[in-house]
Amino acid sequence: MGQKFCPFFNSINSGSDIIFTAMIDLQIKSAIRDIPDFPKPGIVFKDITPILKDPSLCEAIVDNFVARVQGLKIDAVAGIESRGFLFGLQLAGKLGVPFVPVRKAGKLPFSVKQKEYELEYGTATIEVHTDAFKPGQHILVHDDLLATGGTVTAASDLIIEMGGIIAGFTFVVGLNFLNGKEKIKHFADKVVVLAEY
Ligand code: AMP
Repeated sequence: MGQKFCPFFNSINSGSDIIFTAMIDLQIKSAIRDIPDFPKPGIVFKDITPILKDPSLCEAIVDNFVARVQGLKIDAVAGIESRGFLFGLQLAGKLGVPFVPVRKAGKLPFSVKQKEYELEYGTATIEVHTDAFKPGQHILVHDDLLATGGTVTAASDLIIEMGGIIAGFTFVVGLNFLNGKEKIKHFADKVVVLAEY
């Protein structure tokens, strides 16, 4: 069946399923809880934990990602600690590829490569095991939320330094007013954001 078009919804054909991106956007937004001034004054924290109480929404999120990365060469999914593990591992499982944990400094026990980066709040260092993937492999980078793009930029720079190729990005949430998409678009054409603010 060919791709269906609808004037109100941007639809995606995943096998026999038509997944409406506008619907998942609304479902995610109605589940997300805004926490003002967390973890510090001025930040409105997008709490995704209510999504985790809804197994069918979790499944729809992963299915949407799978549908929207169809056609990309993906050898592994890299998920960023810690909320990037929630859907990143499930996505890797559905795609049938390994999962690469991108962790905060000092958490990974084997030999690591690391990178320092800036957050919307504060700074941090991320690490990847040196044997997490092979040079030349195509890595899909996943996190729960795209804000300024600093975190995934650091992760992508690290993956590239380790010989990987950035296949694309998936995020549950994007804060468009912080222009993260602009910052990361040079890494890969495919940037999937399910719920955009
Ligand atoms: P950034 O590097 O600015 O794109 O920030 C993205 C990372 O910080 C993700 O791992 C998010 O989990 C976290 N983050 C940044 N801002 C927020 C926010 N307003 N609400 C929830 N998480 C956030």
